[in-house]
Amino acid sequence: MKPFRYVRAYSVEEAAAAHAGRLGSRYLGGGTNLVDLMKLGVERPGTLIDVSRLPLDTVEELPDGSLRVGATVRNSDLAAHPLVRDRYPVLSQALLAGASGQLRNVATTGGNLLQRTRCPYFQDLSKPCNKREPGTGCGARDGVHRDHAVLGHSPQCIATNPSDMAVALSALDAQVELHGVRGRRTLPVTEFHRLPADRPDLDTEIAPGELITGVLLPPTAARLPSAYRKARDRASYAFALASVAVVLDVEDSVVRQVRIAFGGLAHRPWRARRAERALLGGPPNDEAFLRALDAELSAAEPLRDNAFKVRLARDLARDVLRRLAEAPSPS
Ligand SMILES: Cc1cc2nc3c(=O)[nH]c(=O)nc-3n(C[C@H](O)[C@H](O)[C@H](O)COP(=O)(O)OP(=O)(O)OC[C@H]3O[C@@H](n4cnc5c(N)ncnc54)[C@H](O)[C@@H]3O)c2cc1C
Ligand code: SF4
Repeated sequence: MKPFRYVRAYSVEEAAAAHAGRLGSRYLGGGTNLVDLMKLGVERPGTLIDVSRLPLDTVEELPDGSLRVGATVRNSDLAAHPLVRDRYPVLSQALLAGASGQLRNVATTGGNLLQRTRCPYFQDLSKPCNKREPGTGCGARDGVHRDHAVLGHSPQCIATNPSDMAVALSALDAQVELHGVRGRRTLPVTEFHRLPADRPDLDTEIAPGELITGVLLPPTAARLPSAYRKARDRASYAFALASVAVVLDVEDSVVRQVRIAFGGLAHRPWRARRAERALLGGPPNDEAFLRALDAELSAAEPLRDNAFKVRLARDLARDVLRRLAEAPSPS
């Protein structure tokens, strides 16, 4: 491992000043992804700025009914938080579907949003990878790509985003709070992660040196029936082949609100806007669900070995929609 400087920050301002947009600096959350990548030589920061002790470790209710989740709230604490379990069960379920108890005890909200792809070629310095080293090619395209993207990929990169939490946040229309040299800003989670296009080295829209300070969960999705479901090769400790987060509000047998986001299919959580539009105002039955999901997934461009993901995602989403449609309405 390359030698690096370690700095612990105790305030947001101190962290941002220590980074100051320097390319060789990285913020350190729980370290469960970054330190692994440093050991592999994929990440080679000159300075690590430890932000895990910043005073951003609470979940608070705001006057408008939103929940503000601090960036250093641990994945376990967020999943177990009574307000999250009560109002946003999809988020709690997504978090618990990820990693292991030990990892979730350490992993932070900010770090989870910025975890890198699990593409094995990205992690292997002996293989070409446009994400790790722009211009070297994509080892996965002609290699082993069963786990890779079926939607929104590019000739440059076919990687998927690995985060379960981000899929739930996308379906909840959550916002990411950022602090950078130009001040504070918020970005919808749906616009935070990028598609690869011709810059697969950029995973997100975060600017150099910007710090994630928190995530805002809007009151609109609170207490609506919601659920997360994940298909994977093992029952635990495995990333999603396909996953889905759904928020569904049905009244008088009509779909009043619906939000669907897929995981494991693309370089970012895939918000299924086309399916949502098709379902809105219509009946919540299997025929409508399948028609809407087929319309969404008709955009898929599977690779040699992963066409199975399209059917898998469709069936997962249909099952979750069906189950939520049968759930009692929120009081
Ligand atoms: C064996 C294993 C299995 C796993 N399985 C799953 C799974 O099934 N599903 C899943 O979703 N995840 C899974 N994970 C990934 C795990 O969820 C992530 O490693 C974790 O969420 C990253 O959080 P962290 O705080 O440790 O981030 P770190 O490793 O500290 O950081 C990750 C990235 O975020 C940046 N960063 C951290 N905090 C901030 C901040 N506040 N502002 C700006 N940048 C920041 C870092 O610079 C780094 O680039 C697994 C991990 C392992 C090791
Ligand atoms: S899919 Fe993306 S991350 Fe994987 S080898 Fe290709 S360029 Fe690299």
